[in-house]
Amino acid sequence: MTPVYLDYNATAPLRPEASRAIAESLDAGPGNPSSVHAAGRAARRRLEAARDAVAALAGAAPAQVVFTSGATEANALALARWTGSPGPRIASAVEHDSVRAWLDPAVGDCTIAVDGDGRVDPAALAALLADPAMAERGPPLVSVMAVNNETGVIQPVAEVAQVVRAAGGRLHVDAVQAAGRLDLAPLTAVADTLALSAHKLGGPAGVGALVVARDASLAPLLRGGAQEARRRAGTENLAGIAGFAAAATAAAEIGQQARLSALRDRLEAACLAEAPGLVVAGDGAPRVANTSALSMPGVAAETQVMAFDLDGIAVGAGAACTSGKVGPSHVLAAMGLPAAVGETIIRVSLGWTSTDADIDRFVAAWCRLHRRHVDRRPAA
Ligand code: PLP
Repeated sequence: MTPVYLDYNATAPLRPEASRAIAESLDAGPGNPSSVHAAGRAARRRLEAARDAVAALAGAAPAQVVFTSGATEANALALARWTGSPGPRIASAVEHDSVRAWLDPAVGDCTIAVDGDGRVDPAALAALLADPAMAERGPPLVSVMAVNNETGVIQPVAEVAQVVRAAGGRLHVDAVQAAGRLDLAPLTAVADTLALSAHKLGGPAGVGALVVARDASLAPLLRGGAQEARRRAGTENLAGIAGFAAAATAAAEIGQQARLSALRDRLEAACLAEAPGLVVAGDGAPRVANTSALSMPGVAAETQVMAFDLDGIAVGAGAACTSGKVGPSHVLAAMGLPAAVGETIIRVSLGWTSTDADIDRFVAAWCRLHRRHVDRRPAA
C-alpha cells in the first residue's frame, strides 16, 4: 500500500532540489564561512548565495536575513528581548507554542482574542493598546502569525501592522505556514521581524531564519561569535542552509496554490456530502489553499489519526501533538469551538506531492471510518 502523506503543516517531504543542494554542500569540501582562506571564502560564497535565495522568497534584502536553527529559535530571537523595549508582549490567542511560551502574564503580557474563524480583530487590538494601563508600560511588542498551522486561516497582518505602528510598537510575524503559500513581500514590508522554517517548505528540519527590518535593533540570544552580523553566534549549518535556499526557490512558485485549493475543496465537499453536520474550522475566513481542519462528529481525533494510519494515510491531530501526545487544541478553544467538537477535528494538509489519487484514498477512508463509527450504513 503506497503511503499517502497529508501532514505538510507538521513537516513537508524533502524536495529533490533541497536534497541535491544538501549533498552538494556536504561534498564541497571543508570551509568555515568565517575563515579567511580560500576554503573559507568558498563557504562564505555558498552561504551568501543561499541568503540571497531566502531573501528573495521573503521579499527582503539579503542583509535582513539571519539564519537560525528553525522557527522556534527565530521566534525566540524576536521575542526574548528587544533592545530598548521594556513594553508588554502581546500575542494572538492562536499563536504557535514557540511564541506563546514568551508571554509572561506575571508582568502583564497578554493575548488578543480571535473571532469564531480564528482571526484577530485589529479594532480590538487598537482598544487594548490604547488602554492606559497598557500604554504606560512602553512600546508593545505584538506577535501575530501570518497563517495558522492548524486551520490555515490568514490573519489581517497589514491592518494589525497599522495599529501596532500607530501605538509606537513593534510587530513580529510568524510566517512559517505562509511561506510558499502566500506572497511574503507584503508581510516583510510591514513586520519588524518575520520567522521562517525550512522544513515546512520542503527543506531540511533544524534550519530557519529571522528576517529583520533594516531599522530594527535586535539583541542576540546566542553570543560569542560575530556570525550573522553579530545577531546569532555559532558556525552556520551550511548544508542545511543550502537545502533551505533550494526549497525556498522551488516553493516560491506559488502557482501550485490553485491546484492545491481544488484538491482541498474537493476533499471537503466529499466529506460534507457524507456528513452534512461536520465542522470545517475557520472556513468563514480566508484560508491558504492547502489546509483543512475538519471534524468527524462523534469520533475522537486520536481515533481518526490511528485509523487513517492503519490505512497508510498520515494526517495531523491538532497542534498540541508533540512527542506523540495529543492534547486539546488552544487554537480551536480560542475560536470558541466546544471541546466536544474540537476533540473530533483532524488536520489534513497538502503540498507539492499531493495528487488527486491521494484525495480519493483519503475520502474513501474517511467515509469508511464515518460509517463504522457514526452512520452505520454499509460502506460503499
Ligand atoms: N511556528 C509555526 C506556525 C509552526 O507551525 C511551527 C512548526 O510546527 C513552528 C513555528 C516551529 O518551527 P520549527 O519546527 O522550525 O522550530
